[in-house]
Amino acid sequence: MKKVLITGGAGFLGSHLCDRFVKEGFHVIAMDNLITGRLENIEHLFKLENFEFYHHDVSKFIHVPGNLDYILHFASPASPIDYLKIPIQTLKVGSLGIHNCLGLAKAKNARVLIASTSEVYGDPLVHPQTEDYWGNVNPIGPRGVYDEAKRFQEAMTMAYHRFHGVETRIVRIFNTYGPRMRLNDGRVLPAFIGQALRGEDLTVFGDGSQTRSFCYVDDLVEGIYRLLMSDYVEPVNIGNPDEITIKDFAEEIVKLTGTDQKVVYKDLPKDDPKQRQPEITRAREILGWEPKVSRQEGLKITYEYFKSLSHDELYEKDHYNFDKYIIR
Ligand code: UDP
Repeated sequence: MKKVLITGGAGFLGSHLCDRFVKEGFHVIAMDNLITGRLENIEHLFKLENFEFYHHDVSKFIHVPGNLDYILHFASPASPIDYLKIPIQTLKVGSLGIHNCLGLAKAKNARVLIASTSEVYGDPLVHPQTEDYWGNVNPIGPRGVYDEAKRFQEAMTMAYHRFHGVETRIVRIFNTYGPRMRLNDGRVLPAFIGQALRGEDLTVFGDGSQTRSFCYVDDLVEGIYRLLMSDYVEPVNIGNPDEITIKDFAEEIVKLTGTDQKVVYKDLPKDDPKQRQPEITRAREILGWEPKVSRQEGLKITYEYFKSLSHDELYEKDHYNFDKYIIR
């Protein structure tokens, strides 16, 4: 049985990857320090013999006994609010964390796939974003802790590949959504749905003309699985090119939830990217991958998930306090 270590395994994406690799017949080790991950996301796997959970911080030395075939590095805060709340941990997991993962990969002769991000393109001056665009990142802005950690992570990964011959894969993940996102992580989709469920106005930042392109989580997991199994070393964008303005997105959420609340406008956070859309020719050609789930379908499933959460989760203490973290 092949063995895979998934760091950030209790997080949104990590937990969906655990499900997929369990289903594919792997022995799965999920590792998480549970700062932003949640055991609820993986508790259904605990009864399985081919699943283990290590409560560990990947910024510290990682020990895994026995053989290991694959490592997926998905540990990291990933919402703008999270990395404003915990900036040092964000920098550490992308730098010390990846160093430990790559060292482990080298020691075990394992293949490693790292979760990179569209944030490596910063506030992009090229649209849509192709993998060969180098980006427009403010290293000292509020997003710098995430963007630069992820850029360093890519550099470190290529260095281990070139210098030590470690087998590496890099996925650049664009905005992704689905069940198990944290309702109160501050991201736009859970923010809007949470506001609708609480009977609050939906808060659009800026004039809402900035764009994002949202990918349903199952599509993303399929792309990642294919990339891991491919022999392609350079970064690959995985995302859904269906681009929408945040203003129109708010209107879609109003329709979806049937809320009678208004859409209100607040100042735009500093360095908020104005446009984002993945160019996915590389994924199409090399992996034969493209997204299959429409936003309409994916949003329906995600809304059902958020509706099933408890009253306590909906009113979790920090939900209305984002303003104290956002730098405008
Ligand atoms: N946004 C918004 N209202 C919110 C939260 C976010 O208008 O309550 C905007 C945010 O300014 C950004 C977009 O929605 O332009 C996506 O934000 P998110 O935090 O989901 O992630 P990003 O794509 O910026 O990393």
